[in-house]
Amino acid sequence: MTRKYNFCAGPAALPESVLETAAQEMLDWHGRGLSIMEMSHRSTEIVGIAETAENALRRLLSISDDYAVLFLQGGASTQFAAVPLNLLGGKHSADYLNTGQWSKKAIAEARRFGQVNVAASSEQTNFSTIPAQQSWALDSNAAYLHYTPNETIGGVEFFWAPQVDVPLVADMSSTILSRPIDVSQHDVIYAGAQKNIGPAGLTIVIVRRSVLGQASDACPAMLNWQVMADNDSMYNTPPTYAIYLASLVFAWIEEQGGLTAMEALNRRKAGKLYAAIDDSGFYANPVELASRSLMNVPFTLADAALDNTFLAESEAAGLLNLKGHRSVGGMRASIYNAVGEDAVDALIAFMQDFEQRHG
Ligand SMILES: *Cc1c(COP(=O)(O)O)cnc(C)c1O
Repeated sequence: MTRKYNFCAGPAALPESVLETAAQEMLDWHGRGLSIMEMSHRSTEIVGIAETAENALRRLLSISDDYAVLFLQGGASTQFAAVPLNLLGGKHSADYLNTGQWSKKAIAEARRFGQVNVAASSEQTNFSTIPAQQSWALDSNAAYLHYTPNETIGGVEFFWAPQVDVPLVADMSSTILSRPIDVSQHDVIYAGAQKNIGPAGLTIVIVRRSVLGQASDACPAMLNWQVMADNDSMYNTPPTYAIYLASLVFAWIEEQGGLTAMEALNRRKAGKLYAAIDDSGFYANPVELASRSLMNVPFTLADAALDNTFLAESEAAGLLNLKGHRSVGGMRASIYNAVGEDAVDALIAFMQDFEQRHG
C-alpha cells in the first residue's frame, strides 16, 4: 500500500494513524463485538464517544461553559440558512462581509430569510484582499455580523476577528483547529468537518448559550440550535461514525501538542510554500501578503497552457488534487493539519523540477 500526498480542498486528508485505528476497530469496537456504525446512538458507547469528542474539542479550543457544542448534519451550507433562522429574531437585517465564494453563498442563502447588508466586499480585487474594518458600512441595528475567516477557494484568511457590538458569526470550515482562536470573541462558530475535523457528514456548531432561543417560528426543528442543544445533538440520529472519527482526530491533535503545535507546523508549511512561489518567476499567488491563508494556497503558472501538464505530472508523482477552483484558475494546494511537512516538501521539489523543465 502506498498512500499518496493529498492536497484536496475537501473532503481532505486525514491523519494516517487515525485511519489505522479506525480500521483496527472497524469490525469490533473495544471488544463489544460490533462496529461503531451498528450501535444505537442512545447506547452508553456512542453517548460516551460523543462526550469524549465534545470534551476534547472544548479543551483544544478552550470553549467555556457559556457555549453549547453541537454535532449536526447538513454541512456548513445548511448553517447558511440556520444562521438567519436562529439569529434574526425580530430584526430585519444582518451584516455580512463578502470576501469570497463561500461568503457569497452564505449571503445568497441569508437573503431568503431577511435583508442582508453587505458591509464590505473585496469582489473588485477578485477576492485577493480583506477590506480594512474602518471601511465597513456596519448597521448598528443588525441582528449579527457574519464573516468567513478563511476563504477556501480564494485562499484569503483573517488573522484578526472583527470588533463589533452585534453577535459575531464565523464560518470556520477551513480554518478551525489550524491554530488557536479566541472563541469568546465570537457568538457562533460553525464548520463542516471534512477539512480539519474528520469525514464529511458532520457539522460542528459552537454557539453562545445567550443567543439561543430566538429562532423564528418557521425554523425547522433540525436547524434549531436550541432544540439541538436541549437534546445533546441527539434530537434525531446523529452522524455517529463521523463523530467517532472526529474524536480520534481530536485525540491526534492533542498528541501533536494541541493547537499551538499545529499552528507552528502550519506556519512552517505555508511559509515554505509561499516562499517557493514568490522566489520563482514562474508561479504566482494573487493574495495580499497579510491575508494569505495557512490552509489553502492557490497559485497560477506563468503559462496557463501548461496547467494540464502540471496536473498530469504531479498526479503521476503522487501529488493529488492540485487543480484550482474554476473561479480562480491554476492550482490550489490545501495543506490542512493532516497534510504533513513531507507532503509540502515533496510538492515544492516537484514545482521546482517542473519549472526547470518547462519554465
Ligand atoms: C467547504 C466549505 C463550505 C461548504 O461546506 P459543506 O459542508 O460542503 O456545506 C462552506 N464554507 C467554507 C468556508 C468551506 O470551506
